Amino acid sequence: MTTALGIDFGTSGARAIAIDPEGKILATARRPLHQPDQPQEWAATLRALILDIPSAIRQQIQRIAIDATSSTVFLCNAQGQPCSPVLLYNDDRAQDHVQTLRQILTTEHLVLSATSSLVKLLWLQTHYPRGNAVLVHQADWLAFLLHGQLGISDWHNALKLGYDPAKEAYPDWFRHPTLTPLQPLLPKVVPPGTVLGKVTATDLGLSPNCEVCAGTTDSIAAFLASGASEVGEAVTSLGSTLVLKLLSASRVEDLRAGIYSHRLGDRWLVGGASNCGAAILAQFFTPEELERLSAEMDVSQPTGLDYYPLLKRGERFPINDPHLEPRLEPRPADPRRFLQGLLESLSRIEAQGYAQLQRLGASPLKRVWTAGGGAHNPAWLALRQQHLGVPVAISPYTEAAYGTARLAQGQLNSGTTAPEFPASAD
Ligand code: ADP
Repeated sequence: MTTALGIDFGTSGARAIAIDPEGKILATARRPLHQPDQPQEWAATLRALILDIPSAIRQQIQRIAIDATSSTVFLCNAQGQPCSPVLLYNDDRAQDHVQTLRQILTTEHLVLSATSSLVKLLWLQTHYPRGNAVLVHQADWLAFLLHGQLGISDWHNALKLGYDPAKEAYPDWFRHPTLTPLQPLLPKVVPPGTVLGKVTATDLGLSPNCEVCAGTTDSIAAFLASGASEVGEAVTSLGSTLVLKLLSASRVEDLRAGIYSHRLGDRWLVGGASNCGAAILAQFFTPEELERLSAEMDVSQPTGLDYYPLLKRGERFPINDPHLEPRLEPRPADPRRFLQGLLESLSRIEAQGYAQLQRLGASPLKRVWTAGGGAHNPAWLALRQQHLGVPVAISPYTEAAYGTARLAQGQLNSGTTAPEFPASAD
């Protein structure tokens, strides 16, 4: 195990966390991102973050890895200079190219979306035809600035480019005549955390022996932060929406419902996201009310209220129904009872979500770590424990940068054991 630096580029800011071999945080740094689609700002932010780490700690860092938003891509030339605009993770201007791919792929595939990296590559190649260009994901390019090698990506970033991490190859359909011109632009893909080389940037006060590793995406980094590493362990994020991720021995996909799997070592991280989540709570309660009413709740007395608390019509997971209407009636006069009904319903939907993943073939659920704004609500934790029927606890670490530092330490490859689960949750 090594001292490592994890760097996370999110949508509005970037964060760096240095950790010691035992996973203890040595230093952190945070910088805002004002123009999330400007590589020059990313480059300056990357430098600033590294220089923000106190120099005594910086010199001890043996490995660095970077995570960034998935499917944020652009073209750069052989020197690594951007030669197209950046298409951010949620940019759907490449929409028309989905149809091109539909003619090649006969079954549903993750790339058949207006925001997939492959659809964006088709758009970029049409609008910015350049000799010797390569496609880079945000995380690939930021790592390139440190190790100097272009054209390398990782399983996680490359999944929405069409790369098959089970076969460790691009699928045969890339040989279709429409797609062959793309081949020279495709990155070589390696397992996340692979050591790619020594740091070549000499003016950052890093040890010349510091190694730079292949990265990951921000949401997988957040999962890795929890320390979950055994099959059957899961992380639920109680943010604006409810996001479930379960570590499974088998790969599971139901793309119409938005369920797919990323490869983690020799396991699979199966994920699904409901449109329900904690955002609905903010519509009815202030943060102070949420805390006070939750503390007054008697979770051993179920309300019998059965809501489906969507913000608007339409759900994908665990029920795939674009017409599903929000159900928030009957609304009791007592706000504490109303909140309890909402938390019970969200707990029920979470349990249905894990049941659905298992029905589709994921490994049995053993325990659930919790992240996101709703994680620290003890009443909700107790209700979830009742509905899920497995131990539930708060993740000790939730920052993506922390997960990426663990990735750089080889967490994925060595299969380090999970943090001890709090006894009170059993
Ligand atoms: P995101 O990153 O998805 O926007 P966060 O992880 O920051 O979300 O979580 C924000 C959510 O947490 C808000 O929707 C808010 O309603 C919810 N939240 C904040 N405090 C509490 C609480 N005490 N109990 C339940 N939910 C809470």
